[in-house]
Amino acid sequence: MQYDAVIIGGGPAGLAIASELSRNWRVLVVEKGVAGTTNRSWFVPYNVVDDLVRPFTFGGVTRFLANTCTGATAQWQARQFERYPYVNEKTLLPHWVETVRANGSEVLDQCEYRSHEVSGSGVSIATARGKFQARLLIDCTGYNSPIAKQYGISRAGYYWWSVFGAIGDHPNGLGGMEVGDYMLWQTFADTNRNADASLQQGRPVFEYEILDPRTSFSLILYLRKEIITREAMEPVYQRIIREEAGTAAFHDMTIKEIKYGWYPSGSVSQELARERVIFAGDAACWTTPCGWGMSFILNNYRDFSGKLDAALRADRLGRTELAAIPHFRFRERSEIVLNTLITHFLSDAAAPLLDRFIGLFNPASPNHIDPLYCEKVFTLDITTEEVHIMLGAVLKAFTLKELLSFLPLSESGLLLEEAAYFVGEEALADVRRWFHLGGDTPASPNRNSGFDFN
Ligand SMILES: Cc1cc2nc3c(=O)[nH]c(=O)nc-3n(C[C@H](O)[C@H](O)[C@H](O)COP(=O)(O)OP(=O)(O)OC[C@H]3O[C@@H](n4cnc5c(N)ncnc54)[C@H](O)[C@@H]3O)c2cc1C
Repeated sequence: MQYDAVIIGGGPAGLAIASELSRNWRVLVVEKGVAGTTNRSWFVPYNVVDDLVRPFTFGGVTRFLANTCTGATAQWQARQFERYPYVNEKTLLPHWVETVRANGSEVLDQCEYRSHEVSGSGVSIATARGKFQARLLIDCTGYNSPIAKQYGISRAGYYWWSVFGAIGDHPNGLGGMEVGDYMLWQTFADTNRNADASLQQGRPVFEYEILDPRTSFSLILYLRKEIITREAMEPVYQRIIREEAGTAAFHDMTIKEIKYGWYPSGSVSQELARERVIFAGDAACWTTPCGWGMSFILNNYRDFSGKLDAALRADRLGRTELAAIPHFRFRERSEIVLNTLITHFLSDAAAPLLDRFIGLFNPASPNHIDPLYCEKVFTLDITTEEVHIMLGAVLKAFTLKELLSFLPLSESGLLLEEAAYFVGEEALADVRRWFHLGGDTPASPNRNSGFDFN
């Protein structure tokens, strides 16, 4: 059977792109399970929800909270933003499946991808349900893409979010929590008693969202170089929601639905195309340190599909042409610095540093960062000026020595280059010399810059 595009993976990325491309092209989505079913659920920034997706959203976050193990009072809330809606995954994904079929294209369940071969005229794709021919293959198989593996695409630079949680029923009320609450990265003193020392205190972080007057979604998150197994995560989650004093409102919750998974984060230089093959969604690491993969899909799928549409129309499907297709609306270097910093705060910084970072979003903090900037970083919508405001706050609250204590050497150069904006080249040359050569501390640190070299 000949198609214009075969999309592997009937998750949100594959179905969103298929719903657009199938307007003009003959598309086939192949899914190893049942397309449009997922064990994930999402809340997303308001600005990424377009008119097509809006009817499939509900409620949303209206209040941000944070609670840290080293600062019991470091709790903050914010109502500056309109809301972060929840996506109803049980209606949006089936709607996309129906849209694809209504457009005359196909979605095949229980159809696992096996292999593919590229020739001058197309791609031949072998699946559990037979062979298919296409002009273009779009890999939307998610974090564990077998296609990326076949091409030997390295993921050595990736960080991984490992997530385990549950939708919970609170028949006796919310115990002081409010509908619309979002607990961002709560930390505990000993969340991972049996794990290695780097994971103790504050790792994994705990989050919850209150969906309605008796329903919560609570979860634990690890951001690590390695993937944490479901078996390792489940007991940690159970202990947090059943035993921690800071989660008393969850102790008698009934679990309705388990949610878990893994997604990549923080790599900024992945390979996104091969001859007649392009990667999208988690398979292309469309995420930032907070792992807002669904947000990226919603933010990008229409533009991205438009570009694929043009490539199909012009029959420009070579590796170089596909690699030139932009995946994101906006990206600049200073944003990458912020993303790098947040990744390492969450994964590698000592717990007191992580807690101080979370505390920066507390309105009472002297270097307060507006929580809206969080959203802007995660969706790559932040402006250069806002990046500098945020970086400035971080650089005022932390000494360079503290930041460099958890940034890998390979990434610290980025921070130092950006820091030039705040300290000027002269002071920076001193820092570079001190840091890279392990020699003298800078002779005349610029105290007015907010830097402290002690
Ligand atoms: C618990 C949890 C909570 C999350 N919360 C949020 C949130 O609040 N906001 C947000 O923006 N993001 C969130 N995310 C991230 C978001 O879910 C992912 O980024 C998103 O699902 C990526 O979509 P995808 O289609 O690229 O990949 P996936 O969702 O992984 O879908 C891939 C699909 O490909 C199929 N597939 C895989 N291999 C094959 C094969 N060989 N043959 C055929 N089919 C195959 C799979 O069965 C699957 O259906 C969350 C993730 C998890 C795990």
